[in-house]
Amino acid sequence: MANLLEQKVDDFMAKVIAKNPAEVEFHQAVREVVESIIPFLEENPKYSEAKILDRIAEPERVLMFRVPWLDDQGKPQVNRGFRIEMNSAIGPYKGGLRFHPTVNLGILKFLAFEQVFKNSLTTLPMGGGKGGSDFDPKGKSDNEVMKFTQSFMSELFRHIGPNTDVPAGDIGVGGREIGFLFGQYKRLRNEFTGVLTGKGREWGGSLIRPEATGYGTVYFAEEMLKTRGDSMKGKIVAVSGSGNVAQYAVEKCNDYGAKCVTLSDSSGYIYDPAGIDAEKLAYVMHLKNVKRGRIQEYAQKYGCQFVEGERPWGVKCDVALPCATQNEVNEEEAKTLIANGCFVVSEGANMPSVPEAIEVYLEKKILYGPGKAANAGGVAVSGLEMSQNSLRLSWTREEVDARLHQIMKDIHATCQKYGTQPDGFIHYVNGANIGGFVKVADSMLAQGLV
Ligand code: NDP
Repeated sequence: MANLLEQKVDDFMAKVIAKNPAEVEFHQAVREVVESIIPFLEENPKYSEAKILDRIAEPERVLMFRVPWLDDQGKPQVNRGFRIEMNSAIGPYKGGLRFHPTVNLGILKFLAFEQVFKNSLTTLPMGGGKGGSDFDPKGKSDNEVMKFTQSFMSELFRHIGPNTDVPAGDIGVGGREIGFLFGQYKRLRNEFTGVLTGKGREWGGSLIRPEATGYGTVYFAEEMLKTRGDSMKGKIVAVSGSGNVAQYAVEKCNDYGAKCVTLSDSSGYIYDPAGIDAEKLAYVMHLKNVKRGRIQEYAQKYGCQFVEGERPWGVKCDVALPCATQNEVNEEEAKTLIANGCFVVSEGANMPSVPEAIEVYLEKKILYGPGKAANAGGVAVSGLEMSQNSLRLSWTREEVDARLHQIMKDIHATCQKYGTQPDGFIHYVNGANIGGFVKVADSMLAQGLV
């Protein structure tokens, strides 16, 4: 039986790979889901008969476009823009925009694919999408970022709308970029509407949206720990990244009485055994969000270690929160983490662990919360921002945070429902994949062959 299922996964993946050559991250994301779903389909043949898996792995629409802009020297530059409209069975396409030089079609398709399941898990009515560009905001002036984003939106605006497709931020797209994108959309459409989330507070943004992904990742870790009668209090935590998700993950860990000892960026990581307290975190936020500097400066300021070109997974910790980017924990690093006593991995980033690292977590039966469940808090509060925009109301910080917390608890409960094995071990990967799939698949069945 196991061999037969493996053969079905391989056969399915052979088709996906043939159709989408060279999109290795997309293959990786689809395989992970298919491995969970194919055994489930055996017991629920209605989905196979309607070819739901084949349809879900095929984007509804892919947009690729030229983005020309003038740099500060008056020289023309050309980037490529993308929007993947993956699945709209349960709501308008929803997902972030990533501006990073590594962006390509395969990376955005993996992110859009993951987003479909993640958005379904949030319990809110949002389909899945993702977009972005190979534009690198690092080292660019505010003026250059504005010119680029205006040009990007000059094409994107005709494809999106508050009931069609609602982008948000991701790597390289924060409050500044969302502001420029929104301004250009409004100018082109002549309408003030909730077409983007992550907006500024004064012009339609939601309280807690900046905090949501990082907070949610820690809420999810806390829920996982509760299943073993434990909590985040007193835990030593290794965090990667130092952007939006990492910063607020540290803040919530501090609230829970845990101690974060690392942060990183693409140049290396800092190790601060004394812990990154509120004052040090305020320094990081200024360094990264205003000064746009490197994490190495933290080590100089606080007299701790900076390890160049490395990731923080060799450090002794109880909990690991990967919050930087995809494939940032390899098999060896997963083994080292566990050998050093780590028994909780809650993913703030999307697909940060390679498949072999996930196998290590599952084999050792640690508490492993995959990104599509653990980092769903960001898009959940984006969904709440859409609701507030439609109501033309704005909820208090406490109200949004309470809703976020409840959604993370509900996502955990869904994972538990679909992922608990006979020996009581919760296989969160299966739980998240099947839990996310059912709602989308049932909606696709109800809506006919579209
Ligand atoms: P930011 O741009 O704010 O921060 C990204 C951080 O990761 C930076 O510290 C960056 O370092 C580091 N990083 C990026 N690429 C690499 C790389 N190739 N190698 C090493 N370090 C890298 O992004 P976010 O915090 O918003 O996003 C982080 C992760 O969380 C991503 O995987 C994203 O998809 C995911 N996510 C984000 C959500 C959100 O609401 N923002 C929602 C759900 C998931 P440097 O500055 O040196 O590049």
